[in-house]
Amino acid sequence: MSTTLIQFSYLVAAVLFILGLRNLSSPKTASLGNFMAAVGMLVAIVATLLYQEVVDYPIVIAGIAVGGVLGAVVALRIQMTAMPQMVALLNGFGGVASALVAGAEVTTAVEAGVEPTGIVPVAMVASVLIGSVTLTGSLVAFAKLQELMRGAPIQYPGQQFVNALIALGAIGLCVVLATAPLDLSLFGVLTIVALLLGVLLVIPIGGADMPVVIALLNSYSGLAACATGFVLDNSALVISGSLVGASGLILTKIMCDAMNRSLANVLFGAFGAVSESAVSAGTSEEQGNVTAYTPMDAAVIFSSARSVIVVPGYGMAVAQAQHAVRELTDTLAEHGIEVNFAIHPVAGRMPGHMNVLLAEADVPYEQLIEMDAINPQFPETDVALVLGANDVVNPAALEDEGSPIYGMPVLEVGKAKHVFVIKRSMNPGFAGIQNPLFFKDNTMMIFGDAKKVVIALNEAVRNY
Ligand code: NDP
Repeated sequence: MSTTLIQFSYLVAAVLFILGLRNLSSPKTASLGNFMAAVGMLVAIVATLLYQEVVDYPIVIAGIAVGGVLGAVVALRIQMTAMPQMVALLNGFGGVASALVAGAEVTTAVEAGVEPTGIVPVAMVASVLIGSVTLTGSLVAFAKLQELMRGAPIQYPGQQFVNALIALGAIGLCVVLATAPLDLSLFGVLTIVALLLGVLLVIPIGGADMPVVIALLNSYSGLAACATGFVLDNSALVISGSLVGASGLILTKIMCDAMNRSLANVLFGAFGAVSESAVSAGTSEEQGNVTAYTPMDAAVIFSSARSVIVVPGYGMAVAQAQHAVRELTDTLAEHGIEVNFAIHPVAGRMPGHMNVLLAEADVPYEQLIEMDAINPQFPETDVALVLGANDVVNPAALEDEGSPIYGMPVLEVGKAKHVFVIKRSMNPGFAGIQNPLFFKDNTMMIFGDAKKVVIALNEAVRNY
């Protein structure tokens, strides 16, 4: 295949990636976006395989077969609640793949005794540094989320000084190598320092903040791929790497904004440790009486309501209650009750978590309303049904300056006439703090597994 045709194929792939990303920004067009990006990837892979520099097809095809089968099996078996850790692993693999390719190019240059010129040496060190940090950082994120290691921040005195020193050392090595890249052993040292740095940077971050870290590492894996694109002079890799890098950064910012925290606070604030001290200081203690209802009791209020807003959270994902809630909302609609869903940007454990689950249960997109648009509707709403959500409906974020989540924008469900909260116990959510909403006069708790309670509630409303 001629070089011009290959470059043209890369351009087509890049356009498909960009259109794919564009379409992924709305639930209605997300499947199409995913498909377009996948076709773009296929075009890029086929064009690369037709490149004359490919010397050993059987090895390439064996790699595709093994990777493809592994990827398909993992994707089919993974639970929705375990998606963040799967993304973490994939980021790590992406990072190490870029570093390995750059490393292979370094070895080739050393063997040929030809010093790379221009941007290439800089790209080589960038790829090895970022790719290696991404690998070990992602593995620690995976281990924390999979509960293979303690989720709480691991801290020691002088930690940030040590990290800064190692980071400076890594940058120093990069500067030396960028000017004299034919030193394989120094590349080895850089790789070891970068692998260590990945571990050290992520261990002080609480398991709770891992989704933000994963979005950031996703961005790093894109930057590593982009750098490798410069090493190989491959425009498709440069463009796709930049897209991943930029979108990962945008996602990181969206998540930080939704929690009203700076990226520095997420990376260096040891959030889990803060909330542990808040727990010991008593913020997790109960703050009054709780009213407990059964689904049968609740059905009376639901049946006389005209409007209901469902507020899903992490507990809906744990219980896999999305299909049951869809059936409940169908029943409510049959009774002439208007139903909408309030979607908080960080409800659940990853961006878009609730949208994905509700889309899987065929909840119409028009019923999913973002926080800013739905908050003014709560005062006119008869019933707010909080389904396994906790932090994202915690009024302490608005009212209690001492709260660890003070300033985080939340769904103002307490303003609805009646609030039902379905959860299993009075245990706190992700931030580890108690929720004053549960003790309000207009709040009724229905204790139990979200799926079981919603099925019982649906039954009760049907029979009422
Ligand atoms: P929370 O973690 O605050 O609360 C979830 C609640 O669900 C718990 O209180 C738990 O109570 C309940 N629950 C768990 N399992 C079940 C079950 N089977 N049935 C019924 N209830 C259940 O979740 P939110 O969605 O409200 O908030 C998300 C949190 O995650 C926020 O603090 C956010 O900042 C954080 N976060 C989210 C990110 C994202 O991208 N979405 C990224 C980073 C952080 P109980 O044990 O009593 O049942």
